Amino acid sequence: MVFTSNYPPIDIPTVGVAELLFENRHKIPDTKPILLDAHSDRHFTFGQLKRKVLQFAAGLQDKCGFQKGDVLTVFAPNTIDYPVALLGAVAAGGVASPANPAYSVKELSHQVSLSEAKVIICVPSNVDIALETAAKCGIPLSHLFVFGDDATQGVQPYTKVLLSGRHLAAPVPIPNPSEQPSYMCFSSGTTGLSKGVISTHTNITSNLLQVEAMLGPHINSNQDRVLGVLPFFHIFGLTVVVHLAIYMGLPLTVMSKFDLPLFLNVIQTHQISLSCLVPPIMVLLAKHPLVDQYNISSLRTIVSGAAPLSAELSQDVQARLTGCKIIQGYGLTETSPVVTFGNLSCPVEGSCGMLVPNMSIKVINEEGQEVGVNQRGELWCKGPNIMAGYVKNPVATADCIDGEGYFHTGDVCVVDDKGNYAIVDRIKELIKYKGFQVPPAELESIILSHPSVADCAVIGVYDCSQATELPRAYVVLQPSTLPSPDAAQDIMDHVASKVVQYKKLRGGVHFIDVVPKSASGKILRRIIKDWVKEEEKVV
Ligand code: AMP
Repeated sequence: MVFTSNYPPIDIPTVGVAELLFENRHKIPDTKPILLDAHSDRHFTFGQLKRKVLQFAAGLQDKCGFQKGDVLTVFAPNTIDYPVALLGAVAAGGVASPANPAYSVKELSHQVSLSEAKVIICVPSNVDIALETAAKCGIPLSHLFVFGDDATQGVQPYTKVLLSGRHLAAPVPIPNPSEQPSYMCFSSGTTGLSKGVISTHTNITSNLLQVEAMLGPHINSNQDRVLGVLPFFHIFGLTVVVHLAIYMGLPLTVMSKFDLPLFLNVIQTHQISLSCLVPPIMVLLAKHPLVDQYNISSLRTIVSGAAPLSAELSQDVQARLTGCKIIQGYGLTETSPVVTFGNLSCPVEGSCGMLVPNMSIKVINEEGQEVGVNQRGELWCKGPNIMAGYVKNPVATADCIDGEGYFHTGDVCVVDDKGNYAIVDRIKELIKYKGFQVPPAELESIILSHPSVADCAVIGVYDCSQATELPRAYVVLQPSTLPSPDAAQDIMDHVASKVVQYKKLRGGVHFIDVVPKSASGKILRRIIKDWVKEEEKVV
């Protein structure tokens, strides 16, 4: 059985991302403040933003010889300049590839080399990592820039590109938007290491309009104000926050990172009415005493995404924020990202929403058969927002997109007779810590490089108090090393020294005699997850 959306199909225009965002369908006045810095009085109006994007696009062409298909990596926390760099690259006909600003040289080099980035923009606090990465990947110093007005360690400020003296009259036309890439975010998919997800212009414009079809009727662009606290390097923040705000003309207050007092203060002072959040922030909204010290009654809508939000947690937040509607969105980097989105007319707790328009879904059980309502199965989806594929990895692409164009998500869902979806399990390897991807294969290869380790497997264990999974290693030691708390700590330190903070082994290290594997040598993670369930029963 094929499930289709309850919403009528929408028209997807054949234009590029920058063209759609700035053709100004919503008649946004040029003078309307659209990007506001939460930490200062800096802001850009819609007109200023558009001009900066076109200036930056011209500067990239003039200073870096940036051409159609060239890739720019943004390696920075959220700032109001971030969308200028992203959209500047896209308006120049290139591809923007946002990276986690806390990445190590190893992690950033993986992204930069796989995407063949030509230009990197960083911030003063991570310029060392950017310089080392650029040297390793053969990017000349002249193609490395730092946000702000001043040079840092010999790296030129991004204003050098911005103020090169020219601006494009309009974004570079995109004649084949359903084929030409616009963004390249990174995701590990169902298995293995992080891969570059090729999102075409049509993937991104479709998803913007698919979400608008569901959210738009509940938005008042003269009143609503949005909070940009989720990282812009993740597709959820990039599209559902940045693109939607610009496209609909909603003032977006940009926070460089999450900090609870600042978050509450910004909601109060900027009168934020709409915010996309992740479940660990929902835990704080439900429980933290500080929440009572601020007036955050302006918050009318929360969209939780990137990880499951339980009905209980949703109810706890609802009890505290009485005038606020809470919905969920579900999706993946590979689906640009939104597949299902809550219906604000009748939110259903514990559900991740209804299928967005122009998508169809099959639910496939363990026997490989299509099942119907109220039955569990892997969610396969098809629509204009499914990525073109993984860069330089046709095998991984073919493994997840079948001959009929269905993308196999690796998530297990149940859909009820009204079309409400719930994600009930994950059959792929991926671990998510507070909404961030932690590929087990990456941690396993780092753990295996430790001299005391003979074999290992990494899985995620759920921590209810933080509403997140924690990466945990199951390790077989070399015969020369005895299991001990010190040996476990040593392995955790070894991993921590090589990865960005959210990939640390927060779930601990457990010692075992043998890693359960199939005849073909594949780690049987399901068996390890069953051990965890047994352990939890004992506790
Ligand atoms: P990413 O590509 O980083 O966005 O990660 C995508 C994965 O996050 C999905 O395959 C799901 O496993 C998980 N995910 C995203 N949104 C939700 C949600 N609302 N409920 C449950 N899991 C989610």
